Amino acid sequence: MDLNGKRAIVTGSNSGIGLGCAEELARAGAEVVINSFTDRDEDHALAEKIGREHGVSCRYIAADMSDGEACRALIETAGGCDILVNNAGIQHVSSIEEFPVGKWNAILAINLSSAFHTTAAALPGMRAKGWGRIVNIASAHGLTASPYKSAYVAAKHGVVGFTKVTALETAGKGITCNAICPGYVLTPLVEAQIPDQMKAHDMDRETVIREVMLDRQPSRQFATTGQIGGTVVFLCSGAADQITGTTISVDGGWTAL
Ligand code: NAD
Repeated sequence: MDLNGKRAIVTGSNSGIGLGCAEELARAGAEVVINSFTDRDEDHALAEKIGREHGVSCRYIAADMSDGEACRALIETAGGCDILVNNAGIQHVSSIEEFPVGKWNAILAINLSSAFHTTAAALPGMRAKGWGRIVNIASAHGLTASPYKSAYVAAKHGVVGFTKVTALETAGKGITCNAICPGYVLTPLVEAQIPDQMKAHDMDRETVIREVMLDRQPSRQFATTGQIGGTVVFLCSGAADQITGTTISVDGGWTAL
C-alpha cells in the first residue's frame, strides 16, 4: 500500500487507536497530522518520532474536538487532507437518571459532532482533488447497545448514520466514507482497568480478560490498535474504491451473536 503524497489527519491520536491509525498510515507513506486537546512537548515529540521512524512528515496540531470551531480550524491549519480519520472519543458509564448533563453534552460533541465539523471542513478540498477517504471510528456500540452507556451508544449510532449520509453525498466523486466498529481494543485506557478488575473479582490477569472484559467478544481476544490502523489503510486502498457508506466490524465476533 503506497499512500505517498497523501495527507492524513487523525483526530484524538496521541494515544490508543488514533495513535495506531497514525502509525499505520505513516508506515504506508502518508504525511500524517496527529491531534489531541493538549499542547505539550511530548505531543510534538511523539509526532517527530512517528515521522522519523517511517520517513514521513508528521506534525502535531492541538485542537479541542469538543469545540466545533476548533475542529474546523484543525483541518484549515493542516492545509486540508486527503484522508480524514475521525477517532477522538470519550466514555462515561452511568444510568440515564444519574447521567451528568455535562458528560452527555461532551460525549455527543467529541464522539459525534466533531466528525460533522471536520468532514464539512475537509470535503471541499477532497472534492477539488476528486479523491478522499473518510474513516469514522465508531464502535460495536454503534451497532448494539449496553446499559449505562446511553450517551456513548447514542453518539456511536449517530456516527454510523452520519457515515451513510456522507457516503451518499460524495458517491461517484472519488470520495468514500466508512465506519470501523471495533470491539474491545487493548488501549492504555483499557489496560489501566485490568488491575482494578483483578482485585474486584479476585482473578488473575488472564481470567479477568477472558471472563470479565471479553465476555461479549466470542474470540476472547482483544483487537489491537495496529489491526484498526491496518483496516484504515485497507479502506484507503484501490481495493476499497467501491466500499462506501458501510461499517466494518473488528470485534472478534461480538456483533455476530
Ligand atoms: P484513548 O483514550 O486511548 O484515546 C482517545 C483519544 O482521544 C486520545 O488521544 C485523547 O487525547 C483524545 N481526545 C479525548 N478528548 C479529546 C478532545 N476533546 N479533543 C481532542 N482529542 C481528544 O481511547 P481509545 O480506546 O483509543 O479510543 C479511540 C476511539 O476508539 C474512540 O472514539 C472510542 O470510542 C473508539 N473505540 C474504542 C474501543 C476500545 O476498546 N478501546 C472500542 C470501540 C471504539
